[in-house]
Amino acid sequence: MYTTRTPGNPAPTLQMPAARDRNDRRMTRDELLDLYRRSGALLDGHFRLTSGLHSSGYMQCALVLQDPANAEALGRELARHLSGLQATVVLSPALGGLIIGHEVARALGVRAIFAERQDGVLTLRRGFTLSSSDRVIVIEDVVTTGKSTRETLDVAQAAGAQIVGAGSIVDRSGGNSQLGVPYTALLQIDLPTYQPETCPLCAAGQPVVKPGSRPIA
Ligand code: ZN
Repeated sequence: MYTTRTPGNPAPTLQMPAARDRNDRRMTRDELLDLYRRSGALLDGHFRLTSGLHSSGYMQCALVLQDPANAEALGRELARHLSGLQATVVLSPALGGLIIGHEVARALGVRAIFAERQDGVLTLRRGFTLSSSDRVIVIEDVVTTGKSTRETLDVAQAAGAQIVGAGSIVDRSGGNSQLGVPYTALLQIDLPTYQPETCPLCAAGQPVVKPGSRPIA
């Protein structure tokens, strides 16, 4: 139910300019929104989010990023906005930040590492290290409250690295993420959320759907 594509049709991809134009061409907000909608990654309806809140919209970046060409293009675009920060390593929280973090790092020509939860605490594992000479940028797919981005920034700080900024494809925090570092997103989207008890869509009798499943009410 995520996608409106017909089986057999190729996944929608962003039409990117030829290599020689890459430094001159910026993605527009409409192009980004169109890509999300065509990928089935931005849905209108009545959804119960993982947080328990209800919303009239749902976003799933993974559906856009499932096409490596889209991931590469978005990573390159984000990297262009962030290149002035002189980062030497990209740090992402697993799982959501992995693919876009890797693509941003590819475009910047730096390392891509990730933090993952161990006993509920975000941690560097797998031999990943940071030192005081590292200039870290934290990359996410979506910033909603900013909580996971802040936790990831804390990981870098605890490791003694320099933190130079953060970036995401989508910012749906409404400007309230308060990360305390320079932050760039390609796309600002406000999707209203409601407590179930006061949800106007529930009040209107519209069935609520958990994204990725059948209707639950
Ligand atoms: Zn509702």
